[in-house]
Amino acid sequence: MSQVLYRKYRPQILDELIGQPHITQTLKNAFAQNLFAQAYFLTGPKGTGKTSTARIIAKAANCTSKAKIKPCGKCDNCHEISEGSALDLIEIDAASNRGIEEIRDLREKVNFLPVAGRFKVYIIDEVHMLTPEAFNALLKTLEEPPSHIIFILCTTEPQKVPQTIISRCQRFDFKRATIADLILRLKQIAKSEKLEIADEALRLIAQNASGGFRDAETLLDQVIAHVKDGKNQKVELEKIQEILGVTDDQALSQLVDYLVARDTRLAILHLNKISDLGFNMLQFTRNLLEYLRALLLIANNVGEDLVEVTAEQYDVMQRQAENLDHQFLVKIIEAFSEAENDLKNVQIAQLPLELAAIKITQTQTSPTSSDEGFSPKSSETSGRHPKEEAKGNLADIKGQNQSSRAQMVKNVAATDKPIQKLQSEAAKSYQYQKIMDLAEVVNKWPEVLRAVKSHNHSIEACLKATRPKAIENNFLILEVFYPFHKERIEDKKHRDIIESVFAETFKVKLYLKCELSAKEKAKDEKTQGMIKTAQEILNGKMIE
Ligand SMILES: [Zn+2]
Repeated sequence: MSQVLYRKYRPQILDELIGQPHITQTLKNAFAQNLFAQAYFLTGPKGTGKTSTARIIAKAANCTSKAKIKPCGKCDNCHEISEGSALDLIEIDAASNRGIEEIRDLREKVNFLPVAGRFKVYIIDEVHMLTPEAFNALLKTLEEPPSHIIFILCTTEPQKVPQTIISRCQRFDFKRATIADLILRLKQIAKSEKLEIADEALRLIAQNASGGFRDAETLLDQVIAHVKDGKNQKVELEKIQEILGVTDDQALSQLVDYLVARDTRLAILHLNKISDLGFNMLQFTRNLLEYLRALLLIANNVGEDLVEVTAEQYDVMQRQAENLDHQFLVKIIEAFSEAENDLKNVQIAQLPLELAAIKITQTQTSPTSSDEGFSPKSSETSGRHPKEEAKGNLADIKGQNQSSRAQMVKNVAATDKPIQKLQSEAAKSYQYQKIMDLAEVVNKWPEVLRAVKSHNHSIEACLKATRPKAIENNFLILEVFYPFHKERIEDKKHRDIIESVFAETFKVKLYLKCELSAKEKAKDEKTQGMIKTAQEILNGKMIE
């Protein structure tokens, strides 16, 4: 059987380690001076390179190369560690019984001198799994370690390791891999495996890798197994979606954005788009529930420990969670859990999801407050079963219920205000650092327009009618004077173009956000625009 990719391409020297520059640089400097700590503590999410780094440290400690850059990866000692046959490297998996036994007689064993190298290196994986007595034995050894011993403790759960142990180690915190890191790694592997694969395809794999290299490589394994026969064919995004059966996280976060903004129309369009693309709606709903659970965890400050996504996705989710009323989030989860059940018995796969979306977007709660809870239902809907209520609303939308048009227009108008408030509060609460100033943006604005024009003429025309208003953390706020422009610019396809132009022009990741101008003239236009939107909904144009 062929080696799995993550073993085959395990980083063997420091330069092969991706995404942890703060760690590689520190280690490089120390190794160049032959400085080794008595004990290391490597912590971070799974699949981010802890075990690989531990082995690289072990190699550097026993590398016989005269070169400054260690480990060399070529000498006998380096080779033996790569092959897993080195006698001076003892790897203990604390999660298994064998580990516990080894820790018990550790104190005795550590006195034996190394066989081939300068140091005897103990790597203890999942160190948080040790029993209290094993921790004690380890601590005693760490208190008076023989000079020929190096301990490397690895864990995904540092909070479960006694502080007395951690304080005796040099600590390295591994970060979640970014999408860019994962793509870089996947590209290297694909090249070595002679697999031609589209960039968007790699991106989707990276997005589904939970921020870990190992997951990314396992997914790529799956892809390679599927395309073995047609290996000389380029693998496109659609193929990956088919093989992995996944949409990207963006599809999920986008839907949540629409729900939070109480935008019934866009939420329903979005669901239909996903269905039209041929995705399994049950799988999509499960992914959505997972995503919502992650939001709930982040909102309750346990996300760092329990949520496994890429660094970028984590930022997006944190941003969403910060602005989400917890009870509203619970309501969303309940609605889609119900939809998941209903999905098994329906002909139109997206219907239960549409009902859930309508139920959620037409809840009369302020999304900005976490204390208010839900305001009472309006007299029009009270007493009805939630399901009937939702069905009634669907009928409204399809234009079969003429009498409630006015109410619908009112609803659309009423929901707009909290969104504005939500967005300005969101901008205030972002924790990002200021990354560039407005003057620079204004200065380069003609350049941005030119670049956007080369992608899409009409979007450039819309952008021309806007004004860069402010930089708030990593958001560029555009003042927009017409709701129609706002809608066009914020359309995902267009926003992606504009944000990619930002990235090219400003060399930083800058998100786009539109704010409608507060001017009187624009206000009239805005109302017109909303009435138009509402009418489109009522005429059923948008959902047929
Ligand atoms: Zn070496």
